[in-house]
Amino acid sequence: MAKKFRENIRNVAIIAHVDHGKTTLVDAMLHQAGVFRDNQHVAERVMDKLDLEREKGITILSKNTTIKWQDNLINILDTPGHADFGGQVQRVLRMVDGCLLLVDASEGPLPQTRYVLSNALELGLSPIVVINKIDRPDARIGEVLDEVLELFLDLDASEEQCHFPVVYTNAKIGTATMDLGTEGDNLMPLFRLIFDKVPPPEYDDEAPLQLQIVTLDYSDYVGRIGIGRIANGTIKQAEQVMLIKNDSTRSQAKVTQLYTYEGLSRVDAKSAWAGEIVAVAGLENMDIGDTVTSMLDPRPLPPLKIDEPTLEMVFGVNTSPFQGREGTFVTTRQIRDRLVQRNSGKSCSACGRLGDFGRLSRLRSW
Ligand code: GDP
Repeated sequence: MAKKFRENIRNVAIIAHVDHGKTTLVDAMLHQAGVFRDNQHVAERVMDKLDLEREKGITILSKNTTIKWQDNLINILDTPGHADFGGQVQRVLRMVDGCLLLVDASEGPLPQTRYVLSNALELGLSPIVVINKIDRPDARIGEVLDEVLELFLDLDASEEQCHFPVVYTNAKIGTATMDLGTEGDNLMPLFRLIFDKVPPPEYDDEAPLQLQIVTLDYSDYVGRIGIGRIANGTIKQAEQVMLIKNDSTRSQAKVTQLYTYEGLSRVDAKSAWAGEIVAVAGLENMDIGDTVTSMLDPRPLPPLKIDEPTLEMVFGVNTSPFQGREGTFVTTRQIRDRLVQRNSGKSCSACGRLGDFGRLSRLRSW
């Protein structure tokens, strides 16, 4: 194996309790990295796009924001703050090499971060601690840092993880400093710290294409979309690839669409290679954990081991006396389509909610 690194890419997750300033910070990073053109109005804030998230102020669906800084790319992956979405948290964390733990300078670390942080530490990620809202009159930075360290110890962090680097930010005005005695001018110290402390993606120069699907999305135009990080090799639009499922079955398919990320958007790409986070369409029967690999030299990646879903439901035939009396979309096919869409990370247009029900393979046999 010829081990190499994509030196100009960093994939990081962001972990924060609600309201500690995650969205404000990522917005500021995007602005300072020049992603938005001057005439482009940023209508919605970066990470809280779903209605439910806006309403409740929580982040459920993990999303990717790509920041181009100088000639480098920083992919920031949002993590859901809830243990209920455990499977999703673990999958997101597998796409990154580091994480930012964002903590309010007055409130300190709160329970929502505990679960995601414990997963990150278990996976061996070394977090960067970002103490935000240092301008708050009630900021108690020293005590908050002690509380963060206590939390790390409580979660059995390694010695290296406990020696976390710290950066102090005021996300509202977009400044960061490594030293509380010196006021920050911009977010450069944060960008630099990410590049210094988060390892670049590693890949095997001699391996063929290997891309594991870790999240699903859905579009009415292109159908199922699989998102993942390319472990090795290159993927091209219109390429014939092999899809290897978790149960080892293989099928050939064509990558009809290939997307990479730019700022908040998904953009068409002709090709992408190791270390990049991409979305692919055309592989209609892909599921979470499947490997998209070379047709000539197909090599599956190890299956993903993730927590079982918190909730499991069985949908059966309605045997009640009211059966068939009301409802419009009631056939099993319609219900299945709706569920598969929801499983693909879409929110319901009626209630704004969405689910992470894990695998829906049993539905497929209907
Ligand atoms: P999220 O839930 O973690 O995404 O938090 P938001 O980014 O929505 O921020 C929550 C609130 O904190 C908003 O009212 C922000 O304006 C405010 N906020 C964010 N960063 C700072 C900061 O550095 N200083 C101050 N004073 N307020 C901040």
